[in-house]
Amino acid sequence: ASPLVEVKDLKVHFPIKKGVIFDKVIGHVKAVDGVDLSIPRGRTYGLVGESGCGKSTLGRALLQLTPPTGGSVEFDGQELTKLAPGKLRSMRRRMQMIFQDPLSSLDPRQNVESILIEGLAAHGIGADRGERRKKVAETLDAVGLPRWALSRYPHEFSGGQRQRIGIARALVLGPDLIVADEPVSALDVSIQAQVINLLEELQDQLNLTYLVIAHDLAVVRHISDVVGVMYLGALVEEAPSDDIYAAPLHPYTRALMSAVPVPDPDVEDQRERILLAGDLPSPANPPKGCRFHTRCPWAQPTRCADERPVLRQITVEGLETGSDHRVACHWAEDIATGKLRPHEVKA
Ligand code: SF4
Ligand code: MG
Repeated sequence: ASPLVEVKDLKVHFPIKKGVIFDKVIGHVKAVDGVDLSIPRGRTYGLVGESGCGKSTLGRALLQLTPPTGGSVEFDGQELTKLAPGKLRSMRRRMQMIFQDPLSSLDPRQNVESILIEGLAAHGIGADRGERRKKVAETLDAVGLPRWALSRYPHEFSGGQRQRIGIARALVLGPDLIVADEPVSALDVSIQAQVINLLEELQDQLNLTYLVIAHDLAVVRHISDVVGVMYLGALVEEAPSDDIYAAPLHPYTRALMSAVPVPDPDVEDQRERILLAGDLPSPANPPKGCRFHTRCPWAQPTRCADERPVLRQITVEGLETGSDHRVACHWAEDIATGKLRPHEVKA
């Protein structure tokens, strides 16, 4: 089957402006710098990386909320970057977004019913108010909120309930794709699981396609079919969820994973900690060659500093590396087999 979403060489470069009237472009922040990814219908793509790696910009560019400056985004066979504004508006209904902090995206002066009805009216869904109210009530049931919630205001709800309202607002429009940007990172751990479970149930019932963005690998692990790891505007690794957790191959992914606490405190954590040297470089001035070379414990002279590695399929015997495990590292095989050892990094 053809994927619902197909992104090719996507770029979002923001101009850096200077001058009295900000009329001089002195450079570009390369927030997203050449990303390829595809999401099959009904599946979940988990996108992870540190804050500032470009993952939110990628999510917004995918929905054309932030215009891409290069590359293409195909949604259900339609090239979005070339659609006329009117056409794009009618496509919007099918591509919805959920935010980290629903409160900041929900109008505090409107009750839940008006918030949801407004969306329907804006997209011309439902013949009249009666029909829209019915749809809204059904959607509330679907996200597990009681009917009395309809007459309440966003601030009257807990964080978890507010996220359900955010999900309802997206869902009521009948979308095919939902981009969820840090959907649970503002919530308590116990509530996180409930919201993730809700998203999964809705996906099963409605064949929804998700892009779930998170800085936390643990959050996307369970829900994602495929996980992509981003660093400084580019994907460094992509694999089916189980494979990437069983055998992270890119040094950056390994460092991220080694920072995730073990779930069971009684089990001694025997994993090697991978410390990264230095800070995240500026996306306005990313390192030449491999963008990760300034921090990579395995970096080799001089290829790592000279040549940008492409995302390529790799297979290592004895490791969970399926045909769809892709890594952007010149030395991925040697690192995986232990032939290449990391340098000591001073903490
Ligand atoms: Fe590290 Fe070099 Fe691989 Fe980049 S290409 S991740 S610097 S070993
Ligand atoms: Mg799923």
